[in-house]
Amino acid sequence: MNEIVMQILAKQPASYSIKIGSGFLLNPAEWLSLDYQGKQLVIITDDNVNKIYGEKLANALANYKPLLLSFLPGEKSKNYLTKQSLEDQMFEHHCNRDTIILSLGGGVVGDIAGFVASTYMRGISYIQIPTTLLAMIDSSVGGKTAINTNQGKNLIGAFWQPSYVVADLNCLMTLPKVQVINGLIEAIKIFMTNDAYYFNYVNNNIENIINKDILVIKNIVEQAIKLKVSVVSQDERENKHRVVLNFGHTIGHAIEKMTDYTILHGYAVALGILVEAKISQLLGFLSLEYYQIIQSLFFRLNITLSELKKLNCDEIILATKSDKKMKLNSVRYVLLNEIGNIHYDDNIYVHPVSDEIVKKAICEVQHDG
Ligand code: ADP
Ligand code: ZN
Repeated sequence: MNEIVMQILAKQPASYSIKIGSGFLLNPAEWLSLDYQGKQLVIITDDNVNKIYGEKLANALANYKPLLLSFLPGEKSKNYLTKQSLEDQMFEHHCNRDTIILSLGGGVVGDIAGFVASTYMRGISYIQIPTTLLAMIDSSVGGKTAINTNQGKNLIGAFWQPSYVVADLNCLMTLPKVQVINGLIEAIKIFMTNDAYYFNYVNNNIENIINKDILVIKNIVEQAIKLKVSVVSQDERENKHRVVLNFGHTIGHAIEKMTDYTILHGYAVALGILVEAKISQLLGFLSLEYYQIIQSLFFRLNITLSELKKLNCDEIILATKSDKKMKLNSVRYVLLNEIGNIHYDDNIYVHPVSDEIVKKAICEVQHDG
């Protein structure tokens, strides 16, 4: 056998900036790289966001004569057909390897536009312009792109980092309050695992957040992104430290699946956080007092237990076992020692927990409120 070895020079570490501010949409000169002058721009968005911001951004970029592509809003659009239709339209308009995609919208738009960017002509540049709090804090940062298939959510996709992320906080002014809370949960999640000071900041500013006080929201977005960046930059592909981002998600994903994704992601994760914090408490790591602080914060955010109460404990446990993040048939959980401090043992961030404890935790949370 003759063997020839192909050696590829390791890529430079990728880096990109995340710009957070107000009014970016109307002033692209503030963020659009001069390197992009003369290049073709494609704005990908959904019909809701298009109505509010599509034309505004296209007008602000009039010099570039951007192509504006829009699809039906909602998770159901995050599929092969939408991807193919976007690609077909890009081919019709002679988009090439130098074309830049501007992804304007929430997580659905970001995931699909990023995935189109990752495969169009083997990969082109894209810029994330998240317009929901959830997308600003979570999905626009980290380079995960994907679509859903009949087999499940986000099962086909790629790691493809954006050239940069531009978060215009003014976009949040048109966002419904439930969507604000939906995004806030991801911030609370990351503060619970990393930053007690900011957890308390959220706890003390609920009214301001709900009333969209831009300064308070800016502080939260900035800090949540800083923490996410520090976690992801250590571990892009989720082998070690990145798993802390899954706090609340093992149970959260099970709840989403069982409710056929009719519950918003953040709300499912909030229920997941309660159960996983309860597991931490039952195992003797987290004090009851801390658990109650978390519980009362969620109740003040009008997060009810009604969806959780409808579900059967054993079925939730079964649903956690088909999570793609599960390894070796044992479900492992990120656990808390206290707010802002995860249970970290012997280089291990996720811990196997017996079905009995998980069941007890679900039952206790179901009967808590
Ligand atoms: P995610 O919550 O993952 O960011 P979506 O992309 O589905 O999810 O966005 C949630 C909903 O909010 C969609 O219907 C979308 O069209 C709408 N939306 C996104 N951004 C805004 C905004 N700034 N103002 C009003 N509605 C928005
Ligand atoms: Zn999440």
